[in-house]
Amino acid sequence: MQLNHQVALITGAGQGIGQAIALKLAEQGADIALNVRSDDERAQAVRVAIEACGRRCEVLVADVSSVVAVRAMVAQAAAAFPRIDILVNNAGIERRAGFLEVEEADYDQVLNTNLKGPFFLTQAFAAHCRRAGHPGKVINISSVHEELPFPNFSPYCMSKGGLKMLMRNLAIELAPLGITVNNVAPGAIRTPINSKLLDDPAQVSRLETQIPLRRLGLPSDVAGLVAFLASDDAGYITGTTYVVDGGLLWNYAEQ
Ligand code: NAP
Repeated sequence: MQLNHQVALITGAGQGIGQAIALKLAEQGADIALNVRSDDERAQAVRVAIEACGRRCEVLVADVSSVVAVRAMVAQAAAAFPRIDILVNNAGIERRAGFLEVEEADYDQVLNTNLKGPFFLTQAFAAHCRRAGHPGKVINISSVHEELPFPNFSPYCMSKGGLKMLMRNLAIELAPLGITVNNVAPGAIRTPINSKLLDDPAQVSRLETQIPLRRLGLPSDVAGLVAFLASDDAGYITGTTYVVDGGLLWNYAEQ
């Protein structure tokens, strides 16, 4: 297995893409520090599935938008495991609103979760790697909207565009510590974040006509790429975004 003896910290991993990543990395041999906002039945189900793979799982409750909480989470993970090798910044939210209607509270919540969280969590992770004298891998789940405009979701697009530049900067700044930094940019994936869309078959069909591979993505489509980027085979890859979108990015128009 590719990730034997590795430990991965994954944020927002109780459902959706984060859950699929946690399970995939565990299948590949990694022990998992599973970040969730609350230790509910979803988190416990993921923990049970990871343990069924023969791997360890620690559930770490933290709101990634809080700098205090993410620093405490890294300390907790470092105490629970011999070290942390892989950080997957996955937790993310979106709020729909036209530009003229965006409320300050929603703006703050989106930017704090999607950009400030990964910033300070990666800072705590890099400090952990430097103290321990071992390399690391950072994988951010961004979005095709780190490039593609998405009217009515300006704070979301700003957060993902910011995550792109954070990744590029850190690829250079953290390289001397042996830490690689890459983004994975999903297109339209079947997860609860898209529940409104998924509940509307006509809208799903319209969207599928714009996706060259003619289907929405599955969380497992994203998780496979993350497992590769977390592995030694990706040791020379840093500073790049990998798009997982069935071809949507170059064939999309707002309707
Ligand atoms: P999801 O099903 O809504 O899952 C997001 C997870 O993040 C949830 O478990 C949520 O926990 C957690 N979370 C939200 N805010 C958090 C916080 N402050 N602290 C800790 N955890 C928090 O969405 P998803 O589709 O899996 O999205 C995962 C990532 O992929 C996001 O960054 C998203 O922007 C990105 N993405 C998704 C798509 C897509 O089509 N699905 C496309 C492009 C990019 P709770 O459920 O407890 O709130």
